[in-house]
Amino acid sequence: MPELPEAETLVRGLRPRIVGETIQRTRVLREDLLRVPARRFRSEVAHRTITAVERRAKNIVFELDGGERRLVTNLGMTGGYYPLGYDLGSTEPSHVGVRFHFGDGRKLVFRDVRRFGCLEVDDPDAWAERDARIGPEPLSDDYTPDDLHAALQRSRTPLRNWLLDQRRIAGVGNIYASEAAFLAGVDPLRPANEVTRDEAALLHGGLRAVLGEAIERGGTTLRDYRDAGGEPGGFGRQLMVYGREGEPCPNCDTPIERTVLSNRSAFACPECQR
Ligand SMILES: [Zn+2]
Repeated sequence: MPELPEAETLVRGLRPRIVGETIQRTRVLREDLLRVPARRFRSEVAHRTITAVERRAKNIVFELDGGERRLVTNLGMTGGYYPLGYDLGSTEPSHVGVRFHFGDGRKLVFRDVRRFGCLEVDDPDAWAERDARIGPEPLSDDYTPDDLHAALQRSRTPLRNWLLDQRRIAGVGNIYASEAAFLAGVDPLRPANEVTRDEAALLHGGLRAVLGEAIERGGTTLRDYRDAGGEPGGFGRQLMVYGREGEPCPNCDTPIERTVLSNRSAFACPECQR
């Protein structure tokens, strides 16, 4: 499932290729990826120029005509964009849901096997409302440990659920929540408002470390990285607790425990995380 690092990697690959392109024609092959009729969607993006490609939480955001509109894509479970006719080849993948034609044979296709993705066009007001509903970006330069601590103080929800709540912090998924809580030495089941200032600082650093490393690896999730394992020297930290139930904690050898919380697994060391 694409999370913040995968979305960021996609944005970094798209930006140098499609910024400046004008959408000349749009073909919708899977209308269930849209919230409005295909005809309306096509007219909303027609002849608009992509002036920036950004990420917000796990969404891909194409700024159109300097911000008059934004095309916001939630990648769902399996969604992804493929720029064709550039340096990456022009063979179209299977399961294309929407195709944007630029010019000279260049195009951008949205592929989604399971079709939980969604493409929406926002005017500036709709975008402002959407943006305001999403929490701060954990990798942003002005997001501080004190910001995280202050926000945690306002909720009694278990830390793991707090971290997954996109209204409180943007783009954190299950893997990164477990790993960051381990780095901070905090039990993921602990109420958020009981996380101390020092622990919040460790959590802040842990989130940035695990998300940053995943981006450096090109958006490969930490789990995939571990599965691929055995690379000489390795490329950084492997998963320490996520998916390692019963395996020894890297710090203290105590078996890692798995707890099911809101139908999703949290992994933690019962000794190191109190
Ligand atoms: Zn431990």
